[in-house]
Amino acid sequence: MSDKFDVIVIGAGPAGYVCAIRAAQLGLKTACIEKMQNSEGKGVNGGTCLNVGCIPSKALLDSSYKYHEVSKGLEKHGISVKGVGLDVPAMIDRKGAIVKQLTTGIAGLFKANGVTSLFGTGKLLAERKVEYTSSDGEVTILEADNVVIASGSSPIDIPVAPVDGEVIINSTGALELQSVPARLGVIGAGVIGLELGSVWNRLGSEVVLLEAMEDFLSIMDQQIAKETQKILKKQGLDIRLGCRVTGSEIKGRGKSKKVEVTFQTADGQEAKETFDKLIVCVGRRPYTENLLAPDCGVALDERGSIYVNERCSTNAPGIWAVGDVVRGPMLAHKGSEEGVMVAERIAGHKTQINYDIIPNVIYIHPEVASVGRNEEQLKQSGEPYKVGIFPFVASGRALAADESEGMVKILAHADTDRVLGCHIVGPSAADLVQQVAIAMEFGSTAEDLALMVFGHPTLSEAVHEAALAVNGHAIHIPNKRKR
Ligand code: FAD
Ligand code: NAD
Repeated sequence: MSDKFDVIVIGAGPAGYVCAIRAAQLGLKTACIEKMQNSEGKGVNGGTCLNVGCIPSKALLDSSYKYHEVSKGLEKHGISVKGVGLDVPAMIDRKGAIVKQLTTGIAGLFKANGVTSLFGTGKLLAERKVEYTSSDGEVTILEADNVVIASGSSPIDIPVAPVDGEVIINSTGALELQSVPARLGVIGAGVIGLELGSVWNRLGSEVVLLEAMEDFLSIMDQQIAKETQKILKKQGLDIRLGCRVTGSEIKGRGKSKKVEVTFQTADGQEAKETFDKLIVCVGRRPYTENLLAPDCGVALDERGSIYVNERCSTNAPGIWAVGDVVRGPMLAHKGSEEGVMVAERIAGHKTQINYDIIPNVIYIHPEVASVGRNEEQLKQSGEPYKVGIFPFVASGRALAADESEGMVKILAHADTDRVLGCHIVGPSAADLVQQVAIAMEFGSTAEDLALMVFGHPTLSEAVHEAALAVNGHAIHIPNKRKR
């Protein structure tokens, strides 16, 4: 192996591997270093997203939803199903097979694009040198014109509930349970808590979520958050807001081990709950352990993220950083786009990212998705806005599918009519919100969206009607705003 590269990427998650592939496509001699190993001790690409994040969680969400549908949800359709069984280890194995298929797929993509894939640990030294320690301990000093740090993030631990990997687990442990816990506690009713709480709730656990904040999904549009909370309550998720966990104690031995959690309720009372398993999912932090030599010249910001500008350039020349390790939402697609931008800028292009239009999805059922600004943010900014809402209960396609919970909400500028945000709870919200994201990228007004022809009967018609409702022209609901 030659030790000099045009680009060295540290980390092969969705930010790093995408960056490496794009750099190689642009003719740059590229290496990507990854330290993660699979259960067999072999190096594996794909990072959190493919191994213990987006993909495995969605595999379990889909499997658990199928189980829920056949065991509880088809009578209305005139279909009765008897004797439904559940094989949790088989479900977990299916998830594992998907992870394996996708992670080996990255190895194939690296090969096809000419990326040098190196398994082991990378450490940034001064002068764009990287100390590479291979999986078998051999140390090589590599050099590059550009180094891209894509080392990702790790779960935040809290001393009041230390993860033991057995009874108290984090998201990774919650993707590996081999049986359904009778009572499952979740600390943090954020994205992971809701997604993984939903998986195990559908499979039969009694799920209690303890959330420190008094508002549910406090950073989301609150109308959509409240609707979501109602829907989740109906599904049986016990979401307790304003609850601050103060301690935990493991009780019992062997298979009968449980955890007793002590917490302060919203009205200041001390309370206790006992769970068979407890998932701690209170956020993630940027991961920079053993990554930066003291003289490498890269600065961190006050939150421990690698400091970068809008173009993902750090304060050290030729050193870039992308994905969860830098500011902004910790989302796979945000990191991947940063990876592409950096590869293209290294190659001399002027690529930019529109950070105002990054969709965000919670993959519960129905899905919750948003893009752009929400009503609370617009109120705070003082910008004049108008709102169009269309409930799925008025959508023929949603009723036909028995998926009529939720709504589409579109916000547009009161004077220019330009679309400023879209917030959806409802069937296929992730895909519907993307339609509005595309429109926003092209500077669309609500009227532009309203003038488009949408196929019938589709769920997308709810987006059309919400856009019509912005200016009081909705057809299938009475308009609040008349024109
Ligand atoms: P990572 O994916 O964390 O990859 C970083 C890689 O760098 C890791 O493989 C790590 O081993 C490696 N590394 C670190 N340091 C070194 C070093 N010194 N040398 C070599 N290698 C190193 N996001 C979504 O957009 N949609 C979802 O549905 C979604 N679901 C999620 C579900 C769960 C349960 C979790 C935990 C996360 C989810 N996320 C989701 C978030 C998403 O996984 C992350 O935003 C994304 O993986 C970040 O990509 P990244 O490349 O920046 O970092
Ligand atoms: P989160 O920030 O979404 O939610 C954490 C929740 O825990 C918050 O509501 C917070 O108020 C609460 N909390 C914090 N400390 C607490 C405490 N001591 N007691 C009780 N509650 C407490 O974080 P997460 O759910 O851990 O997910 C981490 C990140 O992973 C997300 O922010 C997101 O970027 C990414 N992710 C994305 C997806 C997706 O896109 N669908 C899915 C999973 C994870």
